[in-house]
Amino acid sequence: MKIGFIGLGNMGAPMAANLAAAGHVVAGFDTVADAPSGVVRVGSAAEAAAGADVLITMLPNGAILQAVAAQVIPVMASGAVFVDCSTVEVDAARDVAGLAAAAGLGWLDAPVSGGVGGAAGGTLTFMAGGSDAAFASVTPLFDIMGQKAVLCGPAGNGQAAKICNNMILGVTMIATCEAFAMADKLGLSRQSMFDVVSTSSGYSWTMNAYCPAPGVGPKSPADNNYQPGFAAELMLKDLGLAQAAAEAADADTPMGAAALALYRRFVEDEDGLGRDFSAMLPRFEGRGRGD
Ligand code: NAD
Repeated sequence: MKIGFIGLGNMGAPMAANLAAAGHVVAGFDTVADAPSGVVRVGSAAEAAAGADVLITMLPNGAILQAVAAQVIPVMASGAVFVDCSTVEVDAARDVAGLAAAAGLGWLDAPVSGGVGGAAGGTLTFMAGGSDAAFASVTPLFDIMGQKAVLCGPAGNGQAAKICNNMILGVTMIATCEAFAMADKLGLSRQSMFDVVSTSSGYSWTMNAYCPAPGVGPKSPADNNYQPGFAAELMLKDLGLAQAAAEAADADTPMGAAALALYRRFVEDEDGLGRDFSAMLPRFEGRGRGD
């Protein structure tokens, strides 16, 4: 396939490189980043999109997606598919999907989980919103870049699935970290806490697969001085998107709101910026109830 790829950052570069390594012709564009090996760098977003069977975007936010969409939709061939893999507002995804449909294009919002390691290893999970036909035509590309792709319903539902998942993840990470810090103060060793909780009803992905306590459980960013991994500021972004969607849909999400407030404080006022989101554990460690 002829693929255009816009946004060659931490995630986009390895995803585009994997498509090129699998034999696809990939024209890449980024305002700053160089193209990875195998990807032909072109001079504009429109150049990447013109003549592409599939255009993939992997951009920082919804405003940038909308600006790029205005440049690429007019030049894309009717019947081509626009796949946005960025994490953006549900409403932004639905707006751009509408513009794409009006221009005779297929559309998928297909945000990912799996992080930079998953992008490099081709093991991402894609959660997609769009038509069955668009999903079927792009599935071979998802198979190269990832290990699983789930069609969640019409346009915007991929973003909805992503923020629901990450709202659970943020809330659960905080709960896991505050429980470890409380266990310290109660004289319970972290290893004992892990041994019990990881096989009891408090188990979770954050405890069992991504344990925030160094030296306990499987290897995780905690064992690497909380280098990300999944940076706290990216969690802050996703929790903000979740609350924006909750407000728009009149959904009552008190735990999501509390998680957003804690990560905002951690990133903006404390030492969370640039650290893994599991560094909430050292944050809680030294604090008392009034802090
Ligand atoms: P990044 O900042 O490394 O990459 C974004 C790239 O987009 C940058 O290289 C930037 O120069 C480029 N860009 C910005 N504006 C542009 C424009 N107008 N035209 C062309 N290129 C432009 O970010 P990332 O970590 O690769 O994340 C990309 C998306 O994936 C985000 O929406 C993020 O929320 C999501 N995501 C990231 C992770 C992760 O672990 N990094 C995990 C899941 C989802």
